[in-house]
Amino acid sequence: MAMGAVGGPRALLRRLREVMAGPGSAQDRLDRIVRNIAANMVADVCSIYLMRAGRRLELFATEGLNPDAVHKATLRVGEGLVGTIADTALPLSLPDAQSHPKFAYLPETGEEIYHSLVGVPIIRAGRVVGVLVAQNRTMREYDEDEIDVMQTIAMVLAELVGQGDLVDPAEFSESEARRREPYTYDGVGLAEGLAMGVAVLHEPRVAVERLIAEDAQAEMNRLGVAMASLRKRIDAMLADQDMVPAGEHRDVLETYRMFAHDRGWREKIEEAIRSGLTAEAAVERVQMETRARMGQITDPYLRERLSDLEDLANRLMRHLAGKTETAAGDVLPEEAILVARSMGPAELLDYDRSRLKAVVLEEGSPTSHVAIVARGLGIPVVGGCERVLERVEPGDIAVVDGDTGQAIFRPTPEVAAAFSENLLIRVERKAEYAALRDMPATTTDGIDVKLFMNAGLTVDLPHLDETGAAGIGLFRTELQFMVSSTMPRLAAQIELYAHVLNAAGERPVIFRTLDVGGDKVLPYMVGQREENPALGWRAIRLVLDRPALLRYQLRALLIAAGGRTLSVMFPMVADVAEFRQARQILEVERRRLERMGQTLPVSIRVGTMLEVPALAYQLPALLPLVDFISVGSNDLLQFFFAADRGNPKVSGRYDLLAPSALKLLRDVCAACTAAGVSISLCGEMAGRPLEAMALIGLGFRSISMNAVSIGPVKAMLRSLDVGQCRAYIDTLIEGPDRTLRGKLESFARDHGVRI
Ligand code: PEP
Ligand code: MG
Repeated sequence: MAMGAVGGPRALLRRLREVMAGPGSAQDRLDRIVRNIAANMVADVCSIYLMRAGRRLELFATEGLNPDAVHKATLRVGEGLVGTIADTALPLSLPDAQSHPKFAYLPETGEEIYHSLVGVPIIRAGRVVGVLVAQNRTMREYDEDEIDVMQTIAMVLAELVGQGDLVDPAEFSESEARRREPYTYDGVGLAEGLAMGVAVLHEPRVAVERLIAEDAQAEMNRLGVAMASLRKRIDAMLADQDMVPAGEHRDVLETYRMFAHDRGWREKIEEAIRSGLTAEAAVERVQMETRARMGQITDPYLRERLSDLEDLANRLMRHLAGKTETAAGDVLPEEAILVARSMGPAELLDYDRSRLKAVVLEEGSPTSHVAIVARGLGIPVVGGCERVLERVEPGDIAVVDGDTGQAIFRPTPEVAAAFSENLLIRVERKAEYAALRDMPATTTDGIDVKLFMNAGLTVDLPHLDETGAAGIGLFRTELQFMVSSTMPRLAAQIELYAHVLNAAGERPVIFRTLDVGGDKVLPYMVGQREENPALGWRAIRLVLDRPALLRYQLRALLIAAGGRTLSVMFPMVADVAEFRQARQILEVERRRLERMGQTLPVSIRVGTMLEVPALAYQLPALLPLVDFISVGSNDLLQFFFAADRGNPKVSGRYDLLAPSALKLLRDVCAACTAAGVSISLCGEMAGRPLEAMALIGLGFRSISMNAVSIGPVKAMLRSLDVGQCRAYIDTLIEGPDRTLRGKLESFARDHGVRI
């Protein structure tokens, strides 16, 4: 007897819906369901296996097999064909099931007379909760349409299972139970601070409320409208660079577009609608299959693409539901922890800052723009939490520690209490650091160290007074360019720079010219994809090739600093000629303004970042030309070790406190000091007390860091004897240690240095 839907899949679905809504226990309904499926689909057997504790699949209902086997016959996940379907979460169809190597004969069922088998997983919330199987006596091939119908039925069954009358949901699988357990991500701390709150999805998921459609054509039309608006939105985002949230990678958008225009994807959804589902349920079903397959794929590139597809399906769902694209438009809980795959800085700024307490990202690196903006706002961020979106449920309690890079979801009461205590301690410490604000930054052996602050947005400026920073050691001008949707005009640049200088008053400010390009993509600038963006066309390289950009910026700086001192430096200089060229452009601009009678700065100090190792070997030629040097240790050491600073797989492999790195820093510092050129360091290492201790030991007397680090670093140096520290480092720096971290920690402990 052949299998095939009698009266069509929609008639069957309607019938199943009546059964589900009808009288009787859940078991009665399940029995009626298998009878209906078998009759309607002209299958000799229809059975439902459900997942029980211990990852065992139990025969829950059957039409065609021995009824005595119900609740007795079981298989482990991975065992037999049913177990294989549960394990792989993929449909299986076999004309000759018994010849399959995985076939396991269950004598109690009397299934030996059936040759062909088709089975599909029953998936709920991304997890396999059972298997639906049909069997026929004859050896026959099941076609795609039949498998589709089975999958649609499985989706309806998943709803019935989800009601919890058949199996306690905690039993569905161990992984379901695990889902409720706390889980911890050891990610990367992207912005300091500690917060506890309630998880909110940056891109909220839409819950499917109606599964079965009344009118398939109406659903098809809804899909058409939503698909068109989704495509329009993505095309607009790509075409109108204004709408691309800065930091959202163009290739992700390109992938979205590719999928959004993919006929296969749309056809699958349409097929699911034709089988009787609503448009939302159809998208969800296709997405469920994708998710199930994702579980099997290990290739990172393919996994990425599949998560792109999943994101896109979420977007389509929101278009169907007429919802906004992100949660920024919704009312946030009082203490919200935002969870996202990735995010642009402008998107972050859309949120109500009084309620947003922390951000957890699947992607992101310490230098991603969202991290930099979050630091300015004082919002802790943890990145690198791979696949967190697959596990997190909106409303989960979350603890985020941006200092250690840990994000804990559903913490146990003990962990939550420990964190609350920690939060309190940090508040106390903050008060202690605030008390240090006006104390001199002087070591116990009387050495003054200047602690400067890094900044880039106006939100950073109040920190100058709060922290008692000596000034701004690095003003990253590119941030203004990154957070605005169009290229900032000359007037806007002048306004920002003047505002910064006003806020700083007598305190010095070092402006760094645009460090864009490579991975720091401007939303409105069409970039070229590069194999190695960090080593690519960025910073000084880009602006020397496009001098108009640099000229405008230097003009803005010269005008803003009229009547005061202007300190300006250039990023990523790799050789002296580049510095000369940039300085020449500054001089041309200065003369131009002079000719126009513009008030000029009373003095102009010109320096460079030292973040390319080659420049460290050109100091004799460079030092006579510069007023100051600022070491960009983030870039310098990533190039020194050839380890991408944003890639957690390698960024932790080499230590900044390795003797080799310390020697480089020591030698640069010594050469500058001997030549009477001011030397400072403005990479992230300056803000970590232990690293800062080493830097001071190496000879640095000026360092620049994030505002939150000034208190801890000042507390450290006020308890440090530099003479002892230097002598200790000298004994170790030529030695064989891979890193001096452990030894320096012991030194600090033994000498009462507060790290
Ligand atoms: C650095 O490289 O250390 C630096 C301060 O520059 P940025 O982090 O902006 O690249
Ligand atoms: Mg840099």
